[in-house]
Amino acid sequence: MSNFDIVPLQDWGLNIKKPFVIAGPCSCETEEQMMETAERLKHQGISALRAGIWKPRTRPGMFEGIGKDGLHWLVQAGKHAGLPTTVEVATGQHVEEALEAGVDILWVGARTTVNPFSVQEVADALKGVDVPVLVKNPLNPDLQLWIGGMERIHTAGIKKLGAIHRGFSSYEKTKYRNKPMWELPIELRRLHPNIPIVVDPSHICGERTMLQAVAQKAFDLNFDGVMIESHRNPDKAWSDAKQQVTPERLGEIVRSLVVRHEALDHEKEDTLLMLRQQIDRIDNYMLEIMGERMEIARKIGEFKLENGITILQTNRWDEIINDRAEKAAKKELTREFIVEMMEAIHQESIRHQTKIMNKLLAE
Ligand code: PEP
Ligand code: MN
Repeated sequence: MSNFDIVPLQDWGLNIKKPFVIAGPCSCETEEQMMETAERLKHQGISALRAGIWKPRTRPGMFEGIGKDGLHWLVQAGKHAGLPTTVEVATGQHVEEALEAGVDILWVGARTTVNPFSVQEVADALKGVDVPVLVKNPLNPDLQLWIGGMERIHTAGIKKLGAIHRGFSSYEKTKYRNKPMWELPIELRRLHPNIPIVVDPSHICGERTMLQAVAQKAFDLNFDGVMIESHRNPDKAWSDAKQQVTPERLGEIVRSLVVRHEALDHEKEDTLLMLRQQIDRIDNYMLEIMGERMEIARKIGEFKLENGITILQTNRWDEIINDRAEKAAKKELTREFIVEMMEAIHQESIRHQTKIMNKLLAE
């Protein structure tokens, strides 16, 4: 059972629709930009208007946000469009200023969640306040740190609490700006099913063309909403230009989203049950085969021991990987998956062989 006492999204008193879509510019730039964006977004099926006022930038000298004035532009624009507003807060002072200006939802950014001191400062400023707060995942794929951030906010008394999945930073270059690593928000859902999860396709993708697919995936995985950056003139945006879309394109994306249902009628339930039974059968078969494979690995371990050769033989390992990856490609399995799977199996074989060698050596 989740130890979070959470008020569901629909009871936040903000008229949040399904699908829950938060949209708005990466950064608030001018009063006019905020107003025009809100005006063009207001009929695009969104539930809240976002804008960054204080921008944590990777390098100094980049646009670091318009500051406090922008808060009022955001709130005015929200009022104009009849939409609740949301802003990123990173310090106690940000919280005070945002609340004083009348912002409806606060969010903690990825660069803040990594630092427990900063999250605690935000949490302390929230004591005694009833405002919804969304906590983005930390930059690094650390679920405990993400949950810890939400715990600090929750302990301060915030029950209207949610998570934002914005992907994870990595040194290796991938097609994403931040790797989605869906297994983390899925595990968060398993551990704390009552915490609403909003996915941020903009910061996951870092570019426009994949936004729709990532947003759809969020709903296919039964998450609760999406946050997508939208700018009146994306290419001219002062931050994150490549990933922003016009309000009209945002509307197209929102209308294309299919929100699937978790529950099915009986007949469909039976079909799904049958398919799941087939999966169970295959999994059980795989487990048996793995057991057999490990038995052979142990025999090889004994043989290696008797003949005084090392456990790890790189040539043989390269051969295995290449052969299996080639065969896997014919079954539409990615090389990445096969390498990861074979590595996991290999590690287990080595563990079995090491045990044999140590045990016999110890006798
Ligand atoms: C943002 O939402 O504009 C932002 C700065 O996001 P993140 O904290 O995910 O990098
Ligand atoms: Mn941004």
